Amino acid sequence: MAAKGMNKINRIRTFALSLVFIGIFVMYIGLFFDSSPIIMTITMILGFVFVISSSGVYFWIGMISTNTVKVECPNCGKITKVLGKVDACMYCDEPLTMDPELEGKEFDPKYNRKSHNNT
Ligand SMILES: [Zn+2]
Repeated sequence: MAAKGMNKINRIRTFALSLVFIGIFVMYIGLFFDSSPIIMTITMILGFVFVISSSGVYFWIGMISTNTVKVECPNCGKITKVLGKVDACMYCDEPLTMDPELEGKEFDPKYNRKSHNNT
């Protein structure tokens, strides 16, 4: 799992998922402050805000998913979603580019491999 996650959508999904857990964790912490209604209320609201913002992030993922392009990864052969000009494969973290000008540039030799396969 640590090796994966370079793909932008995967990273945002991980971020949204961690927001849910942070929110639940904060609300859970608040249960220990049952003697102090103020702290308990603050932690409940804070945790609630985390969970709500996570669903906002999920909504955002749905919005930007319409802008992604499905391509076949030249490295692992699976269909992956590319967001923006440069993104990593969702499965093997192979760097992929949608910008033809970036292909063939020397800053990353892996981009050359893709342009080579396409031609
Ligand atoms: Zn791949």
